[in-house]
Amino acid sequence: MATDEWHSATSEMAIQQFDIAADKLNVDPNVARRLRRPDRAIIVSVPTRMDDGGVKVFTGYRVQHNDVLGPFKGGIRYHPAVNLGEVSALAMWMTWKCSLVGLPLGGAKGGIACDPAELSRHELQSMTRRFTAEIINVIGPDVDVPAPDMGTNEQVMAWIMDTYSQHKGRAVPEVVTGKPVAIGGTLGRREATGRGVVYTIMEAAKHLAIDLTKCTAVVQGFGNVGSVAVKELANIGVKIVAVSDRSGGFVDMKGLPVDKLLEVASKNHSLEGCPYGDKTTNQEILEIKCDVLVPAALEMQITKANAANVKCRILAEGANGPTTPEADAILRDKGIFLVPDILANAGGVVVSYFEWVQDLQNFFWNEAEVNNKLREILVKSFHEVLQMSQKHSVDMRLAALMIGIDRVARAMLWRGLYA
Ligand code: NAD
Repeated sequence: MATDEWHSATSEMAIQQFDIAADKLNVDPNVARRLRRPDRAIIVSVPTRMDDGGVKVFTGYRVQHNDVLGPFKGGIRYHPAVNLGEVSALAMWMTWKCSLVGLPLGGAKGGIACDPAELSRHELQSMTRRFTAEIINVIGPDVDVPAPDMGTNEQVMAWIMDTYSQHKGRAVPEVVTGKPVAIGGTLGRREATGRGVVYTIMEAAKHLAIDLTKCTAVVQGFGNVGSVAVKELANIGVKIVAVSDRSGGFVDMKGLPVDKLLEVASKNHSLEGCPYGDKTTNQEILEIKCDVLVPAALEMQITKANAANVKCRILAEGANGPTTPEADAILRDKGIFLVPDILANAGGVVVSYFEWVQDLQNFFWNEAEVNNKLREILVKSFHEVLQMSQKHSVDMRLAALMIGIDRVARAMLWRGLYA
């Protein structure tokens, strides 16, 4: 697979992780061969009328990795670095994530190579609607249900829902999750991923007998996941000493004023010009001494080049794939407790699943119900992963992958190979 069209640094990393887990589990080699690559990928041109009157053609992707457990599910990313290999890796991780937390869903991902910060609202809407039309034959409520990811939000999901509904001639809210509550979204979805990260940090702290009210945290990325994680950590008494986003980082070992940071970010859509703390960089922030480190931005932030300098006790991966396999080994040797991405950030897809279920039933839950059910699933999954890691003397990443992959591989053997 490393030499074919799915190849990229990120897909290589996802496959390397898969191979280690599949080997440990003794997955049937025929099943393993199939799981190393996606079911299908669609690459589309997305012609978009720009405000200057010209047409720009963006490239869009939807990759469906595996639907043996249920319909495909996965976010849509708008970022300049989006490519087929990255989307394929993210789709594979979605398969293991849904399986790990026991959802009847498969793994997919999509995206457009673009910088949403440079697009006007009108351009963003036109691009989103044309992308939806281009992939309309491969998505649907019982086929593949998109959701937000980096660079997309509830507004983008609303445009996808509307475009799909216009084509079908009726409202189809269940075609996407992460929508505004006004059009069939669920309470608690926007906060779900960051909140889930914090639920898993609380379980890790309990396991390690760490008192979080005496702890400091550093969070890289201040978007949907990072900003909510910061807010929820501060709510339980953790001191936030550094945060960052694409404009750079801010550090104050005495503690940053969280409410004010949230205010700046919501006003400016970025931390740029933030008047609190001293400036730092996105690389330096990962090496600050702290108790809890939450990478919540991009892939491959902690590598063999900087892993030895990471000085936290708990590393909870809000982002997908922020740590490379070489860095994993270094962190393990340093005794850092890892809460891997497919567990730490699973809150997003869990509450997306709740949203889909509510839409299908036209029956909506209150926020306490959503949060309680989310917490129940994440706490249970955390302890299943911990037990697996203790039973096989492996780290939390390998344990989580083993559970996720094992369920998928068993389901594939039950269903058999068609034709
Ligand atoms: P977002 O677009 O809301 O926020 C991304 C943040 O990262 C922004 O603050 C941005 O400024 C920052 N950023 C961008 N480039 C950066 C860089 N080079 N260095 C540091 N920061 C940078 O995205 P999000 O939804 O918060 O997603 C963040 C991560 O979490 C991604 O890896 C995504 O796949 C993962 N994730 C998101 C969800 C979800 O529900 N949104 C669920 C699971 C996992």
